[in-house]
Amino acid sequence: MAAMPRWSTPLRLLADLLMPRACAGCDRPLVGEHVPFCPTCMERMLADCGSDYCPRCGRTAEPYLATPAGCPKCRHTRGPLSGVARVGTYAGMAGVLVRRFKFEHQQRLDGLLGTLLADAVRRQPWCDQIDALVPVPTDWGGWWRYRFHPAGMIAQCAGARLGVPALPLVRTHGKRRRQTGLPESERHLNIRGAFRLARAARVEGASLCVVDDVSTSGATLREVARVLKTGGAGQVFAAIVAKTELSPLPSPIAPPGITPS
Ligand SMILES: [Zn+2]
Ligand SMILES: [Zn+2]
Repeated sequence: MAAMPRWSTPLRLLADLLMPRACAGCDRPLVGEHVPFCPTCMERMLADCGSDYCPRCGRTAEPYLATPAGCPKCRHTRGPLSGVARVGTYAGMAGVLVRRFKFEHQQRLDGLLGTLLADAVRRQPWCDQIDALVPVPTDWGGWWRYRFHPAGMIAQCAGARLGVPALPLVRTHGKRRRQTGLPESERHLNIRGAFRLARAARVEGASLCVVDDVSTSGATLREVARVLKTGGAGQVFAAIVAKTELSPLPSPIAPPGITPS
């Protein structure tokens, strides 16, 4: 790796004074170290990124509940997804970043979110198998709400860091209600048929990773994966920034077989 020029630090400090950088989590000015967070937000980010989750569905789960075969919620189900990577939770710093990105016009966070997502994917045993990232598409309602495509921007940035393309292989199809506010039992039916393979998309035998900013029940990720697999894709994985929990797993203090006193 090339050595950093000796004048880079004074220049960086001068740049910080002229154009103070802001913490990605709380906008507090940052001076000196080239990290995107203030100490408080960095601590929250590290805690969120380090939280244990099921590698099959992305739910928060104690390590002994989240095995490679899945957690108690997904272990006995079959689905089109072979694995899920996540940055963190919607209740944690990952959720703070997503809300700032989508609702507070902080599109400068795309590179950071892409980096965090790429790091989450790199920690998975399937990382080297991926041929392309596939962002969950948005409909006109999504474009109207956000004026941009959050999952598309994050996938582009993550793909650049992983060295794989981000391809719009799936399009929206027809009308549907928004998933937000629907009970978990209705989300699967509401999203069924909401996507189709893009014209001219060729996915036969490809290993693909569906990318979205937030996932709640996982119904949207599974439906996009189902479309890709119907089109001939090999394995399909998913990567999300923030996981929300409609029905979190119980979090017993003691592992099964040990009765808490
Ligand atoms: Zn901060
Ligand atoms: Zn699971």
